[in-house]
Amino acid sequence: MDKEPTQQKLDEQLDLISGRLETELKRFSNIEALGRAVYLSEAEKQLKDLLDVRTKFLGKKSEFASLKKSIGRVAAEGRASFGQLVQQTEAIMTASIDEAEQSLKNHIEAARTVRETIDVTMPGRRPRAGHLHPITLMRQRIEDIFVALGYAVEDGREIETDFYNFDALNISAGHPARDPQDTFYTTDGFALRSQTSTVQIHAMQRRGAPVRMIAPGRVFRRDTPDPTHNPMFYQVEGLCVDRGITMAHLKGTLQEFVHRLFGPETRTRFRPSYFPFTEPSAEVDYSCFKCGGAGCRICKWCGWIELGGSGMVHPNVLRAANVNPEKFTGFAFGLGIDRTCARIYELDDIRLFFENDVRFLEQFR
Ligand SMILES: [Zn+2]
Repeated sequence: MDKEPTQQKLDEQLDLISGRLETELKRFSNIEALGRAVYLSEAEKQLKDLLDVRTKFLGKKSEFASLKKSIGRVAAEGRASFGQLVQQTEAIMTASIDEAEQSLKNHIEAARTVRETIDVTMPGRRPRAGHLHPITLMRQRIEDIFVALGYAVEDGREIETDFYNFDALNISAGHPARDPQDTFYTTDGFALRSQTSTVQIHAMQRRGAPVRMIAPGRVFRRDTPDPTHNPMFYQVEGLCVDRGITMAHLKGTLQEFVHRLFGPETRTRFRPSYFPFTEPSAEVDYSCFKCGGAGCRICKWCGWIELGGSGMVHPNVLRAANVNPEKFTGFAFGLGIDRTCARIYELDDIRLFFENDVRFLEQFR
């Protein structure tokens, strides 16, 4: 500005600058309109921008600063009033920027408070809790009883060789259990185990004698599904081998088992039977837990319910598992888990357990 500026020109310039600032500050006043998610970071960014605006309009190199310097060159008669105007304008511009800054700072403060506040009274989003399958619950009850009696829980394989599924269990070549119509065979000659008794052999081979173990698990038969049959079902196998084990130990053990499962008034009954892997063999019944033996729908009016098969381990089975039958004797038993479970819950159809209908399964929480 070489030549002396006119008073009017300077006034206009001041007006222009403060007008531009006003326009510029407008973009700092719409912070509330932003969504809550960008609110805090956006407000912090705007606070930085506002600092630039302050420098741009009031800084040492600003247009306003150079205008301020021109006061000295204004004609003497108008200098005082122009100086006053410059001061007023500066005060107004500073105040508007301060106001915008304070407003942004307030927003940031409020947003931080919201972010850092956790309302402990808000209801949480609770995931729907699942629960165990009724057969799993039943298996665990059975396991708990036998573990308390000193039995180990063994896990067995579901696909077996002929040796473990038949030969080692004294099931000879001509036995009907080996009929392909009764068992699932793979193309490589393996069979899906048709009873959990296979685990007896594995356990004795691995642990030797004496041994006390139960083996709960799935078994497979080529049955057509109906209310009391399914091609896959659950058994629990029990085995106790030691010196001097007799049929009395078998009866005492199963008696104790039904006492703990169905109550101390429950009685047991042994009926002579035949299984290739036990000699002698017996079917085991227990007195009906519903009617106590008087007869009801559950026990089909006979007072007794079948528990499973049992007997003294056949010497050939001990031999197949490398246990000397001259030194050791033992008993074994097998119970149906799903069958027992169906009786307890008074179900007429065991297929309900395997259909995975949540409306049915939810009742067993
Ligand atoms: Zn009954």
